[in-house]
Amino acid sequence: MPDLFVAEEIETLPKAKTLADPEMSCDVVVIGAGPTGLACAIEAQKIGLKVIVVDKGCLVNSLFHYPAGMLFFTTPELLEIGDIPFTTANQKPTREEALEYYRKCAEHYALDVRQYEWVKTVMGEDGKFSITATDRAGRPHDYKTRKVIVSTGYYDLANQLGIPGEDLPKVSHYYGEPHPYYDSDVLVIGGKNSAAIAALDLWRHGARVTLVYRGSQLHHHVKYWIKPDLENRIKNGEIEAYFNSSVQEIGVDHVVVDMPRGPIRLKNDFVLAMVGYHPDYDFLRSMGIELSDEQCRPVCDPVSLESNVPGIYVAGVIVAGSRTNEIFIENGRFHGRQIAEDLKLKLGRG
Ligand code: NAP
Repeated sequence: MPDLFVAEEIETLPKAKTLADPEMSCDVVVIGAGPTGLACAIEAQKIGLKVIVVDKGCLVNSLFHYPAGMLFFTTPELLEIGDIPFTTANQKPTREEALEYYRKCAEHYALDVRQYEWVKTVMGEDGKFSITATDRAGRPHDYKTRKVIVSTGYYDLANQLGIPGEDLPKVSHYYGEPHPYYDSDVLVIGGKNSAAIAALDLWRHGARVTLVYRGSQLHHHVKYWIKPDLENRIKNGEIEAYFNSSVQEIGVDHVVVDMPRGPIRLKNDFVLAMVGYHPDYDFLRSMGIELSDEQCRPVCDPVSLESNVPGIYVAGVIVAGSRTNEIFIENGRFHGRQIAEDLKLKLGRG
């Protein structure tokens, strides 16, 4: 009996695609289906180019991994792409509204998005690049394209603390929702927005929260409507906070925090290391893109955003290298137009 099922599965598997397959060949491959990648695809499509977007996760995968119910810091029109209006009932959109909006944008422009395909290599040269991606089953998918736009964002790679115990299953660099942490001792590391939002949300949903931050007080980048809320929780002793402090070690049921008066050991169930994220520099280098020494900014023309590798463009937050607080959806979404202007000149469309 099991053999029959295997036979049926094999029959329904899609046939392997080859480079000669028109479905696998285009003018532009956009790597990364975040808001910036989608904006790039829309602008390139508008000038008559055939575009394929490839993402290792789902559409707007990073937003999908933001905390449930998260409110954006910005008003909806600043998140718009492709001239599609984004209106919300309240002043600031939620994560769920944004997910819906970007789904609608992809649908409206009939974007060809290949989800769950992880680009492993980009080879070749301007006008004839070969891209190999691997899907969730480990099958290779090979694309042929004239130009490449890299808009891979930075949320996939979390900054590491490099301390013992960081790889324990109770440690996460992402905060999803509060429920699993109910009635638990949760240590939040960091002093900016993600740490502040997680600490407050956890406390409001029944977790016992301790915040550890290496700075002397909450960072001034924490939004003005969040900071006083957290400061008051700390003042009232509802959230414990240790400033000028760092976590030295994480154990199965404890953490060791190094404080100005010396190390202390705290009982602990979960650690949320909200210490930021960084672009995949190795992937950029693997394509031959040079990065600046100091901030790992890709070498590129500031107007066209074409990198030092002819035919490969960079877009979105990766343009700022390690300065991930310089480019957001609000300004990265315009990169598509800059790149499309150059594509129009070089590919003669539009
Ligand atoms: P972040 O702004 O990069 O902050 C990282 C925090 O971790 C900082 O406080 C930093 O300390 C600390 N840190 C970094 N490395 C550390 C280490 N090795 N040891 C101890 N602490 C360390 O990251 P984020 O808060 O996740 O925010 C990322 C971006 O998303 C920001 O642009 C933010 O504005 C945005 N965001 C948006 C929303 C929203 O739209 N609703 C919500 C959350 C975040 P220092 O302060 O000393 O550098």
